[in-house]
Amino acid sequence: MTENIRKIKLGIIGGTGFEDADLLSNYEKKKVHTPYGATSDLVVTGTIDGVDLAAISRHGESHTLIPGNVNFRANIWAMKDLGVTHIIGTTACGSLREDIKPGDLVFVDQFIDRSYKREQTFYEGTLTCHITMAEPFCFNLRKLFMNGAKKMKVPFHEKGTMVSIEGPRFSTKAESHLFRQWGCDVVNMTIVPECILAREVGIHYASIAMVTDYDCWKERDGGLSVDEIMATIEKNTSSGEKLIFDVLKHIKSWDDCGCDVAYQYAML
Ligand SMILES: [Zn+2]
Repeated sequence: MTENIRKIKLGIIGGTGFEDADLLSNYEKKKVHTPYGATSDLVVTGTIDGVDLAAISRHGESHTLIPGNVNFRANIWAMKDLGVTHIIGTTACGSLREDIKPGDLVFVDQFIDRSYKREQTFYEGTLTCHITMAEPFCFNLRKLFMNGAKKMKVPFHEKGTMVSIEGPRFSTKAESHLFRQWGCDVVNMTIVPECILAREVGIHYASIAMVTDYDCWKERDGGLSVDEIMATIEKNTSSGEKLIFDVLKHIKSWDDCGCDVAYQYAML
């Protein structure tokens, strides 16, 4: 194990496949107390390939939390408290482009925020933090995703703009067409404010967005069955997990992306 690896702690937020005690050495499932209340679920911690990791199931143990009710601040605070340096957020999403197909992975590089009732900052007291969001996702993590996906021969898109909607309802056709006109590529309900809060505490963050279906802009013959959507989600989850295992082998500390220090230049 190199000195570099020892400093790393990888956080995973999503429908995690890391609940299995057999996957991790030093497996623990624990409650982390935060000033913002409870995390979505107990936090699983352990080690894989010499890399420490912490995982939180975003929507809670039986998927009981709708996107707007996820306690994003508690989840990110717990990650910081546990010493997490990098977070991979996994998310299902809908496609707004013909060439972004169900089953593809998208390593988004931009977002448009259409959420409207979420706490988006840790700084609401005497300090104001005008954090830069010009490049919201860690490009080093995204590069690792691309390298891994190439090796795995999984269809992927190097970049894309995610529109993050409030939910839990899906978009209307009018909204879906509008998002396409805005240049959005995929749509989900959770990337905001997760990536913003991670940056406010100096954690590198990037997302593996897994396409489950086309959003409602696309006219379908007969529509997709629940079985078809579930089959895509299962396939996506397994490619997302495999990709995370590949990232674990290659992750290291880096300082050229600036994610870890951005908040230091943002204080008023
Ligand atoms: Zn970074």
